[in-house]
This record gives sequence, C-alpha cells and structure tokens, in this order.
Amino acid sequence: MRVKIFFTIFLFILGFNIAFAHIDVVQPAKNQITVNSSTVYFIGNTTENADFSINSEPVKLWNNNFFVHVVPLQYGKNKIKLKSVKNGQAEEKIYIVNRKKTSSGHYTESKFIPKKENEVLYTKTIRPDATVRSKPSTHSQRLVDLPENVVLYLSGKKGDFYKIDETGSSEFWIHKSNIEEPVSLSKKIKPRLLKQKHYSDNMYDYQQFYVSHPVLYTIKQEGNRIKLVLYGVESKNEEGNSVPNYEYYFEIENPILGYDCTYEENKLIFKKARLPENIDINNPLKGLKIFIDAGHGGSDKGALGPTRVNEKDINLSIANYLIEILKQSGADVVYSRIKDTQVGLKDRVKIAKNNDILISISIHNNSLPLSANPYVHHGTEVHYYNENAKLLAEIIKNNLVNDLNLKDNGIRKSSFALTRSTNPVSVLVEVAYMLNPDEYIKLQQDSFQKNVAISVKKSLEQYMYMLLK
Ligand SMILES: [Zn+2]
Repeated sequence: MRVKIFFTIFLFILGFNIAFAHIDVVQPAKNQITVNSSTVYFIGNTTENADFSINSEPVKLWNNNFFVHVVPLQYGKNKIKLKSVKNGQAEEKIYIVNRKKTSSGHYTESKFIPKKENEVLYTKTIRPDATVRSKPSTHSQRLVDLPENVVLYLSGKKGDFYKIDETGSSEFWIHKSNIEEPVSLSKKIKPRLLKQKHYSDNMYDYQQFYVSHPVLYTIKQEGNRIKLVLYGVESKNEEGNSVPNYEYYFEIENPILGYDCTYEENKLIFKKARLPENIDINNPLKGLKIFIDAGHGGSDKGALGPTRVNEKDINLSIANYLIEILKQSGADVVYSRIKDTQVGLKDRVKIAKNNDILISISIHNNSLPLSANPYVHHGTEVHYYNENAKLLAEIIKNNLVNDLNLKDNGIRKSSFALTRSTNPVSVLVEVAYMLNPDEYIKLQQDSFQKNVAISVKKSLEQYMYMLLK
C-alpha cells in the first residue's frame, strides 16, 4: 500500500513537471563540468512567461521563453540552481561547475634532435595535402600544402615534426604523418629547372616549370606581384652569383584575382585568373562564376541557439536567398548545399577550387566559448586569409554593418579551410552571433536573412566595379 502511495505521488510530480514548467538547458550541455574561467553562460528555454531564476536571481526571458545568462564563479565547486515557476508549479535543475585554479602549465617541450653530421636524410611526401608549417606545431602558420611524391631533405626532428633542410625567409617543418620514414643517403640529388612554358586559355594565364623532380615551393603575394620560390634549385642572381633557390616573380596589374600552383608529376603549374572579358557594367555579376557555401549541415549543426535553432539552418536560409538573387542577376552560381545535407570541409574546398570559380563566399554565424559573455560579443565580421581577398572582405563587412545595423568587428585574417585557398578569391562571413539574444531573434527573421543576401549581392557588384576601374 505504501509503495502504491509513493508511486502515485511520483507520477503526480512527473505529471506536473511536464504540464506546467520545464527547463531546457542548451548550454552547458552537461550538468557537471569543469572550467578554467571566472564565468560561464547558461542558455536555454523554459515555459512561456514563467518566473525564471538562476541562483535565486530573476533572469530575463527573451521572446518570453528563452534565457541567456552569465553566472560568475568562485574557485572550486559552484552549485548553480535554475528554477522555473509557472502557475505555482516549479521545476529546478542543479548544475555543478568546478572552476579550476589556474595552473602554470608545466609541460616539457621536446628537444630538437639534429641529423648526424654529413648524413643526408631523404624522404617523400605521401599525402595529397602534406602541410608544411613555419614551426613544429599544428598551430603554426601553414606555408604550403604539397602533393604526394615531393622530395624533401631533412635536418632533424622535434617531437612529431621534421625540419626541412632548406634556406628561406622562414623555417619549414612537416609532421611525420605526411612523409615516408626518412632514410639516410650518401648524397643529395640536386634538383634542376629544365624548362619553362607560358600559355593562356579563356580564364587563366599559366606558367609551367619543369623540374627534374618535385621540390618544396612557396608562393606568396607581395603587393602587386606574386613570388614563387623553388627550394634547392640553384640559380644565379642579378650579379651572377650562385644562390640556393630559384625565385620567379609574376608582375600583375592590380587587383590580383585567384591564383594557384599545382604539381602534375614534375611540372609545377602556376595559374592566375584573368578578369573575365565583356563584363556588362550595368550588370557586373552576369556570367560570373560564384561559389556559395552554407556552413555546416546534416549532423554538423554548428552553433546551437537558446531555443535549439541550429546555425546550419540559418546559414542555409541566408545562402539560399543569396543563391536566388545572384541567379536573378545572371551569375553562374555553384554551391555546396541547398538542403540540410552533410558536406565535408575538404569537399567544399574541392568544389570551390575545381570549377573555375572566381569568388567563394562561405556563410556562417558565430558561436562563443562557455567563458565568454554573449551580451558583450555581437556583430559582424568577415574573414579572409590571402591578400587577394582583403578588398572583398572589407566591402562585404562594411555593407553588412551599414545595411543591417550590426556592430563592426572588422575583417580578420583567419586560416580556415574556406579562406585558405588563393583561388578562388575566398572569404567567410560571420553574419552575427547565435548566442546574443537580439541577434538570435533577428537571425531567425526572413526579412533579416533576405537583407543579408541583398547586402552581400550589392557587395559583389561593388567589388566588380572596383576591379573594372
Ligand atoms: Zn559556423
């Protein structure tokens, strides 16, 4: 009998919770977490017009149902109580947040182990995107992605990275997973430049370099020219003296559009996009090949808003409006997705690079780490990585700020998959912040999404006018 009474009470409480008050906490995702920061934010939603509090402090419900609240933390264990009351019925949730004492981080850095004196350490790249970096760390600058079968000589090892034995304006490091197990040789096989060839088609100018075997190269825009260096290919400088590397400069009239360098066996092919001929000044997007990428998709949801609206869906709506109005202007639009499908980052880059596309735009909206304040961080920012995309990034950012009345967070040089390519001209737009309440509400409005698309399209037209000058 007693058991039955308890069971009835249990069902009664359960029933009330479902019917009267609920709390859906979106972040933090777990109710026991450890952090390193002085605050954490809580975002989520509750029953409409409920009295909602966190640690007995009343919390504003945006749109009458969602909350975004920053909670200060003491060192050690913090018990955080979320409470929602509606029609006299309450639901509570308890979160335990452990704030760590900041440790000084004692990690031992591995030592550089040089190769033996007189030893020649030979290896070859074994991956189609073997990244060469400026330091022995995956956080360091990417200098170039080499294809398979590029011959490299090494001067030593630090941790999991090998140092490449070449002289240049930077050091060159490569992770061991990108290369064959190095072997000792008695002698370096010196690469030679055999011949060069220039040709053009209706989109690009090409310069081919035939080398005796594929070598490390770098390519970099320096103002109005692009500098290509073939390492280890001995040549003569202007004074007739022998220098260790071969340097080639592509002098280009401003502005520099997309350019790229790829190996086809032992031919290194440089190509540079030309401004399309016959651009209609009254309709400058007509016939232009533009890639529109809606960020995330499928099981990759991107940032999650307080009412569980996904960034991937907002990105998609904006991208689809943009695709539609660009097509109306006669642009030849290529896209990564127009539905909620999963597309890998590498596949997105591949589509952008392999379809003779002039401009690539990736659409995203920003998230924030738990330690940040979603009321402080808001606004728009446009990311670029290469100099040739800076002007476009600036134009898009300025128009978004003015047309949509967003805070100006500037343009940012960021190494992302969708900004790293030099061809096409590539930018990534973070329209606004998913976790800022005002912007989260706006981002879900059709009119706002459409106006973002109109603003980006206007930016593309202005960019083309500037190229035509
Ligand atoms: Zn994103």
